[in-house]
Amino acid sequence: MSVPIVVVGAGLAGLRVAEQLRAAGDTGLIVVIGAEAHPPYNRPPLTKDALRAGVDAAKLIFRQKPSTADVEWRLGRTVTGADLVNRTVTLDDGETLAYRGLVAATGVGPRRLPLDAPLAWRHVIRTLDDATALREELRPGARVAVLGAGFVGTEVAATAAQLGCEVHVVDPLATPLARSLGELVGSEIRRRHEEHGVTFHLGRSVTAMTGRDDRPDTIFLDDSSALPADVVVEAVGSAPNVAWLEGNGLALGNGITCDVHLHPLGPDGPVHDVVAVGDVANFPNPLFSAEPQRIEHWSWPTETAGHAARSLLAKIALDPPSGTAFTPLPTFWTDQYGTRIQSLGMPGLGLEDVRVLEGEPTGECAIGYHVDGRLVGVALIGLVRQLLAYRTQLLDARAIAVA
Ligand SMILES: Cc1cc2nc3c(=O)[nH]c(=O)nc-3n(C[C@H](O)[C@H](O)[C@H](O)COP(=O)(O)OP(=O)(O)OC[C@H]3O[C@@H](n4cnc5c(N)ncnc54)[C@H](O)[C@@H]3O)c2cc1C
Repeated sequence: MSVPIVVVGAGLAGLRVAEQLRAAGDTGLIVVIGAEAHPPYNRPPLTKDALRAGVDAAKLIFRQKPSTADVEWRLGRTVTGADLVNRTVTLDDGETLAYRGLVAATGVGPRRLPLDAPLAWRHVIRTLDDATALREELRPGARVAVLGAGFVGTEVAATAAQLGCEVHVVDPLATPLARSLGELVGSEIRRRHEEHGVTFHLGRSVTAMTGRDDRPDTIFLDDSSALPADVVVEAVGSAPNVAWLEGNGLALGNGITCDVHLHPLGPDGPVHDVVAVGDVANFPNPLFSAEPQRIEHWSWPTETAGHAARSLLAKIALDPPSGTAFTPLPTFWTDQYGTRIQSLGMPGLGLEDVRVLEGEPTGECAIGYHVDGRLVGVALIGLVRQLLAYRTQLLDARAIAVA
């Protein structure tokens, strides 16, 4: 059997990179190994429509293109180790697989609060199976404690409120979504949640959780208050899935730190027969910063897969890597109470200088985020049709900034 390109992770990034390897002309064997039993599926509905209406795997699984019909999928299998010198990966049953190129597409997993309470009733929401389990508990009148007021937490809160649950959101920061979109947008999102009956406990941390049998009962906060809860959802951030790459001298502190061509940085420089894609890749984007950035957006697997595939194939053929700068524009959306909120660029870099560009925060608006007076990100509340105009404005501003 010929030696394959091995893709570790069968999420959106794994799927897109397999497509892009074929689009770039590779005709050899590709093996995609995924820890979940499901073929690649769409995660954003797991906190939105699918959580509200019921989780139907058939509606979420991505359609596969004819170009990837001969790709070998090994699902329900976890890669436990990699040897980048001898070019092999090890699977959970001890099998060792040689590769001619390796793609890290392992995404992130949910973080957990360091509390002594059974994981059995502490819901997280990353996978289709997580969403199925949570959906069963979101009955009208259920008291739901959402721990974390980031995107996942606020989306779950909105859906639970719409399903008739009594929702409480706890977060140590003073404003929801403050780190990604700042005070102005975060306060407005809080106001919209409160209009729908959600109660926030901000500036508060969870000190303990207790439960009876297989259910939670009380959440204790650091101001000595106690929240009764029937359902607990931990939405306290993510941790990149990188343990399988340990022992190879890579920089794995925040995902897989890569060069601009998405090759991981090893002890002797970039590892040219390996690339990282999607949520797990941490790489510099000259459009915004020389510092590597790791981004968890649905658009990112698609944005990174083509460049990663070409980088990998160029090196396998021992061609010099392309000198063209790779400068993708991050884009993100969240849907809350029927309003689409979108972000372009990197608003989180420009939280010190936030300006209303158009409209009113209490209605539809565009908010600009600046560094050194130049636009670095835009958030749109509503104003869906203005997306392309702001995209152009942002790219123009960044072109001036990096010139
Ligand atoms: C609930 C939810 C809602 C979201 N909503 C939005 C949204 O509204 N807008 C938006 O822009 N983005 C959203 N996102 C983010 C978006 O879905 C992600 O950015 C995208 O899924 C990343 O794709 P990925 O393939 O890099 O990682 P993943 O989708 O996480 O896929 C990685 C896969 O690798 C597998 N894996 C991990 N380790 C191993 C291993 N060692 N061996 C084998 N397999 C392994 C994992 O099991 C997983 O299946 C949301 C994410 C979630 C979880």
